[in-house]
Amino acid sequence: MNEYIQTLVDANKLNLSVSKGRWNFDENPYIISGPCSVESEEMIVDWALKMKGIGVNALRGGAYKPCTYPIRDSIGDWKEGLREQGLEFLRTASKESGLPIVSEIMAVSQINEHSLDCIDIIQVGTRNFQNYSLLDELGKLDIPILLKRGTWATIDEILGACERILVGGNNKVAICLRGIVGAPSYRHVFPSIRWAPDIMMIPALKELCDIPIIYDPSHSTGYRNFVPAIAKAAIAAGADGLNIESHPNPELSISDADQAITSQTLLNILKEIR
Ligand code: PEP
Ligand code: MN
Repeated sequence: MNEYIQTLVDANKLNLSVSKGRWNFDENPYIISGPCSVESEEMIVDWALKMKGIGVNALRGGAYKPCTYPIRDSIGDWKEGLREQGLEFLRTASKESGLPIVSEIMAVSQINEHSLDCIDIIQVGTRNFQNYSLLDELGKLDIPILLKRGTWATIDEILGACERILVGGNNKVAICLRGIVGAPSYRHVFPSIRWAPDIMMIPALKELCDIPIIYDPSHSTGYRNFVPAIAKAAIAAGADGLNIESHPNPELSISDADQAITSQTLLNILKEIR
């Protein structure tokens, strides 16, 4: 190990020691899939059953959605997500399908009895990756946290953010890698691409810690045609699972329509990686 890596490992002793008796997903690769946003009760329940049928391990769906433009991105009742009602729909989808739920919490005020009852794995979104008061609160819980990498984050910042949750006593942390800054090189030809995948971060983190790594090929490509290739690349590089956006009618998704894939495309990916 070179000096720099040794320093990082030393600096993260706690992280490494806590992760010794580490929590992990029961299945490997662990597949999380579902729409970017919960759009209606019927849609999310039907999709949960579909996901269960093709062998997905957990259903994702955003109830609290951090939109880039809070007004411009709203559609009817859907204002930065269906919020508490969306959580309720997710709970029903879980009951009907038996799948655990992955959904984002954006603020400390959203951690309450209701949200904890509806969500099995709390997603921290890229925008909150270094929201220390949120991470400190999540560290006090005994519920798995899927911490999405900030689009800007360096490897030491990733370890530091994980440590912040671990130090509170919650050792159920998984890192979700997604795209990072650097996409402009694609944008002239592929306008929906906002971020660049960083596959090398998978072996780099594996060298330093044993925290499970979930890779998100949807937000890291922004373009559905590239999702299968990057999903397979992430598994080949050592990821423990995937977080993939899928939708019954991808082009009509309320949010992130350019990157959603069909259940058939998802099934093809699963066949190749399992
Ligand atoms: C999402 O998973 O839908 C999401 C908002 O992701 P990110 O925080 O990575 O943008
Ligand atoms: Mn999304």
